[in-house]
Amino acid sequence: MNTHQHSWALPGEHLEPVLILEDWLGPVTALLRCPVCDTHALIYLVAWQSPELKHRIFAVRVVPDEVTKTYLRNIRSDYCDLTRKQREFDALITAAEPASLLISVRGNQIEATAPAKTNPTLQSWHEIETEDYAHWKKLFPD
Ligand SMILES: [Zn+2]
Repeated sequence: MNTHQHSWALPGEHLEPVLILEDWLGPVTALLRCPVCDTHALIYLVAWQSPELKHRIFAVRVVPDEVTKTYLRNIRSDYCDLTRKQREFDALITAAEPASLLISVRGNQIEATAPAKTNPTLQSWHEIETEDYAHWKKLFPD
């Protein structure tokens, strides 16, 4: 099955997150599930284009099944401790595989993919400069 492409690697597919961890006029950080093979991946915002913020570039990091299960179970359990939520997320990102892919998304549709050579920095959307969008966009085929 080495020819299998996860749903998030297919231009034209729509993002249908299992869970949106952060949202600002669309997903910023989200957990995806490939409907074909049940693999989960975490996507996080790397760049976005002003002013509409509809064009977004995400890094994709596959998360091992056991880690995803534990995370989803813990995050859905009934507690209101926000620092614990952050710790659960930290554990998730720590256990995730290195980024293998960047995806360019418009609205919630995947437009293009590009290989990720390193893990892009995980940062808050507050710190993402819209001027960097052109730089990231150059990594994608036209
Ligand atoms: Zn898959």
